[in-house]
Amino acid sequence: MAFSSILKKLFGGGEAPPPGAKTMSRNAPCWCGSGKKYKHCHFENDRGYLTAKQNEACKGPT
Ligand SMILES: [Zn+2]
Repeated sequence: MAFSSILKKLFGGGEAPPPGAKTMSRNAPCWCGSGKKYKHCHFENDRGYLTAKQNEACKGPT
């Protein structure tokens, strides 16, 4: 089952965040190397991604 492809559809092709993204400072430079602050770059994308993943783990398929 290609779970990542489902997430890509949900979040418009957003990249999967790296393992450290969950604990990254919002004011730190983004992990993608854009030079922007994390909160102005991938923060929203990652939060959506991680939340969706968490919900999936909690509920499971119904
Ligand atoms: Zn970024």
